[in-house]
Amino acid sequence: MTYAKAELSGLIRDKAADLKFDLCGIARVRILSENEPVLRAWCEAGMNAGMNYLNRKIENRLNPESLLAGAKSMIVTGFSYYTDNKQKVQGVPVLSRYAYGINYHDVISARLEQLLSYIRSVNSEAEGRIVVDSAPLLEKGWAIEAGLGWRGKHSVIINRSIGSFFFIGILILNIELIYDKPSGKDYCGSCRQCIDLCPTGAINNNRTIDARKCIANLTIENRGPIPEEILPKMGGRVYGCDRCQEVCPWNKNVTPHSHPEFDLPEEIAEMTPDDWQSLTEEQFTKLFRQRALERISYADMIRNINAAIKSLQFFNFPL
Ligand code: SF4
Ligand code: SF4
Repeated sequence: MTYAKAELSGLIRDKAADLKFDLCGIARVRILSENEPVLRAWCEAGMNAGMNYLNRKIENRLNPESLLAGAKSMIVTGFSYYTDNKQKVQGVPVLSRYAYGINYHDVISARLEQLLSYIRSVNSEAEGRIVVDSAPLLEKGWAIEAGLGWRGKHSVIINRSIGSFFFIGILILNIELIYDKPSGKDYCGSCRQCIDLCPTGAINNNRTIDARKCIANLTIENRGPIPEEILPKMGGRVYGCDRCQEVCPWNKNVTPHSHPEFDLPEEIAEMTPDDWQSLTEEQFTKLFRQRALERISYADMIRNINAAIKSLQFFNFPL
């Protein structure tokens, strides 16, 4: 049986809901050329902080056809990881919420694989490519294009229902579908809480971040020491930083996620300052290896723990 575009698009949305995606939008493939000047200027100013892959083949990042020949449609999904169940012990190194659960690349890729299999079962001509932070693609640009939300002044995509604590997973398809309208409206208004309350002043006025100053980058992607001048501003953060999202009014009264994969396990939630300071490589592997933290080595984790603990003596803003 061959489905018409509208019917097939509806089936895909229903299946995405069955697979527990919190958001699903569909965008027509095009070259997101309007993003190029900002991206180039950001890299040329050095704000990519040594993440040189962001500076390579920018034209490919703008064009999904560089990842899937004949690409026609982008299924853009959102998977909430917001929770109020945080670490239970005061005065310990603080993890970003996105690092609580098991590796989100694996979780979301597996769901998108299921979605692709389903699409192929109802349309044998469909070919797809899954991207979850795994290939050069402007995920945020596509989230806007598919109507998921707008780019907040902190540069993260915000959805009016679920806020900004969500992962983006994309399925590129070679078939035509019915498309959502891009999110044209900016609901930040005159607010600038994130800019004013970022501890390191890392948020620029054009919805970009200076990664050289951003605690998230300095504790995740950075392979050198944490700069001395950042230490007093870290507020105990050991991996990532949620500050600009936590102060955002659009994240107040958000319903916590319902994905057990992204819960913080008790054995991490209950770690004491001593547990953190004496973390062995074996414990690090056991506790953190299947999580988003697999992006850093044990040595970098120890660097972060030492910096986070040192920074707590300067503690000057609420976590
Ligand atoms: S993640 Fe933290 S340091 Fe980075 S921009 Fe947001 S508030 Fe600032
Ligand atoms: S804190 Fe305010 S300015 Fe920043 S993203 Fe949220 S609404 Fe926009």
